[in-house]
Amino acid sequence: MVKRIAVVDNTKLKDMDKKKHIQSLCPVNRKGDECMYFDGNKLFIDEPMCIGCGICANAAPDAIKIINLPEILTKDPIHRYGENAFALYNLPIPVFGKVVGLLGVNGIGKSTAIKILAGILKPNLSNFEKNADIEEIIEYFKGTEAQLYFEKVRKGEIKTAYKPQHVDMIPKQFDGKVIELLEKVDEKKQLNEMAEKFELTKILDRNIKNISGGELQRLAVAATFLKKANLYIFDEITSYLDIKQRLKISKAIRNLADENTAVIVIEHDLIALDYMADLIHILYGRESAFGVVSKLRPTKNGINTFLEGYLKEENVRFRDNKIRFDVKSAVKVAESMLLTKWPKITKKLGDFSLETQEGEINSSEKIGILGENGIGKTSFVKMLAGEIKPDEKNLDLKIKVSYKPQYLDSDSDELVMVVLQEAIQKYETELIRPLNIKSLLLKKINELSGGELQRVAIALCLSRDADLILLDEPSAYLDVEKRLVVSKVISNIVEQRKVSTLVVDHDLLFLDYLSDRLLVFEGEPAVKGIVKGPYDMEKGMNSLLAKLEITMRRDETSYRPRINKLNSVKDREQKTKKKYYYA
Ligand code: SF4
Repeated sequence: MVKRIAVVDNTKLKDMDKKKHIQSLCPVNRKGDECMYFDGNKLFIDEPMCIGCGICANAAPDAIKIINLPEILTKDPIHRYGENAFALYNLPIPVFGKVVGLLGVNGIGKSTAIKILAGILKPNLSNFEKNADIEEIIEYFKGTEAQLYFEKVRKGEIKTAYKPQHVDMIPKQFDGKVIELLEKVDEKKQLNEMAEKFELTKILDRNIKNISGGELQRLAVAATFLKKANLYIFDEITSYLDIKQRLKISKAIRNLADENTAVIVIEHDLIALDYMADLIHILYGRESAFGVVSKLRPTKNGINTFLEGYLKEENVRFRDNKIRFDVKSAVKVAESMLLTKWPKITKKLGDFSLETQEGEINSSEKIGILGENGIGKTSFVKMLAGEIKPDEKNLDLKIKVSYKPQYLDSDSDELVMVVLQEAIQKYETELIRPLNIKSLLLKKINELSGGELQRVAIALCLSRDADLILLDEPSAYLDVEKRLVVSKVISNIVEQRKVSTLVVDHDLLFLDYLSDRLLVFEGEPAVKGIVKGPYDMEKGMNSLLAKLEITMRRDETSYRPRINKLNSVKDREQKTKKKYYYA
């Protein structure tokens, strides 16, 4: 068993002279052995020979990682993508009758793990010459619950249905109408029922190329439900969906698990994950280097352990700091000074109309914006940003505004370091370091992934000289940990620069963590939107949750908000008192 792994990304180490120089620094090579060696143009490290001095990793920190593995790992990886490449240790266990959630940062092996369970990827048990056969996999997991699962696989008793993460790829893979895709996969003959359940009835005759991100997500979920399977795997269901749709799908997934059906979900929205999962596997390790699937924990304990950053039973600390939620003080809001206010506004956009009451923003204040999709949140923010005009007249807030739109422009071939010049000069500690942007500086904007582009756009918006910062869906494409880092970064900038911010988002936990007050959008999507507030957190959340007919309490350990089970004692008690949100 290798207790140390080396990861070398040769795509980030193109200069041959630099590679040779790094090789010459290795103390093992200097003694005459071949610890660092070339195969063609590529540089490799012989892991058993490496003494872990870290000299090479210091010389090329973006390309080389030398990692001492946790003591708890006693076996070789279940899968490794190649010599000096990403390694995954252990696998999640599907449990019949339960929804098992996978929780961890991106690049830690969640997608690799579920691709193995779904049979899309054959594990190699670190043998790069050949994939493992089913007998070898059963032997590898002997004496564990995974052995029983793979014995069922051997007997042909497992049939999987898999909803992929990137629903925006569906139009590239399927040409036709929504109904045609559903008919193709309808093994259960429940097309009409599922179309209704996931609100697809009105768009059945639309071409898939012309439907929105939210519609694509609901289509992908419905298609997965229509397949006859006994292991259902959902890789992120919340992207592009509002809170109402998130809860509706979470509830459907919860009800899918029965004694003959196991469900696995990957999710970064902790409220949705908490709502649908019975058990949690935490995945930890080092991004793009290695990932470990921890043992199963009950959901409450699993999410709290993740926020703690410490696996007690395994004695592994995977994050330096704990994440804790504060109970908001109403006094702070009352003491704040007025920054600006807006009058009653109306705006007609085709068949849709938006109207606002008068509202105000105080200095150093963080206001969250909640509401369904198609209810006018983005239009309202664009009016404050001066991008569109209200029907009445120009809206002059008499302040400087910095705006991050919902859809980010990824076409530019400018380097990140050029785009973020000001942020690099002024906010290295506040923005560049916590948002982990250093490694992106030499990339072009059009080379960035969705999550990387989001971090760059947030840094750019927060670095501009402004009194009011408007952020439209900053949590999109970010993993659970980065969402919490972003909310911390926003809070620090607000405090330090005495600016204010308005944040539109659908992740309730993210908004709860960040916001001092809430603006609530009511009405009917695509028909009429009414802006109410800003309210204090309790009043704002109460008005939203009452419409969703759910109640929330605070977890007694982490203080994070949790949805009460429908008709539980707490749920009934809070509904009677009309306290839907427990501040
Ligand atoms: Fe050589 Fe290993 Fe030290 Fe790198 S960490 S310089 S490969 S001994």
